[in-house]
Amino acid sequence: AAMRPLPYFCRGEVVKGFGRGSKELGIPTANFSEQVVESFPSDISTGVYYGWACVGNGDVHKMVLSIGWNPFYKNIKKSVEIHIINTFKDDFYGEILSIVIIGYIRSEETFNSLEALISAIQEDIEEAKRQLDLPEHLKLKEDNFFHLPEGKIVNH
Ligand code: ADP
Ligand code: MG
Repeated sequence: AAMRPLPYFCRGEVVKGFGRGSKELGIPTANFSEQVVESFPSDISTGVYYGWACVGNGDVHKMVLSIGWNPFYKNIKKSVEIHIINTFKDDFYGEILSIVIIGYIRSEETFNSLEALISAIQEDIEEAKRQLDLPEHLKLKEDNFFHLPEGKIVNH
């Protein structure tokens, strides 16, 4: 079942993840802090979603997002990880990440091999790109949520 209250807008600081080596796989995933994850609707389903994301006052990019179980809390709390479909020159830990979650792609799965995992994520990325090119999804890229007033402080 997909998460109901979509689109869902959310903003928060990027924190260190679990060091699963996502970056080494070519698919870095930015993590939100525990507080941000706890502010998500409680009926939010685990799985993979697509939407738009923006770091600080930067450009708005396509993204895929996964909601899963947080191994640090014995899998009783959720974690949220975002792969932005863009190449960044530098890491952006500590920056404010603004996202809108628009649609559901698939449920959480376990894969037999790293190759199978990577190819599933590549398919998720292709699906996200296709979906986000639809006019009704493209218009959310221009949402005022992503246009912070000059000088507005949002990180506390
Ligand atoms: P961690 O375990 O700390 O989450 P990752 O290997 O998943 O480490 O890398 C995530 C970090 O990489 C993000 O917090 C961000 O600073 C950086 N990063 C660089 N490019 C991207 C991108 N395209 N999408 C997401 N994060 C990125
Ligand atoms: Mg990560």
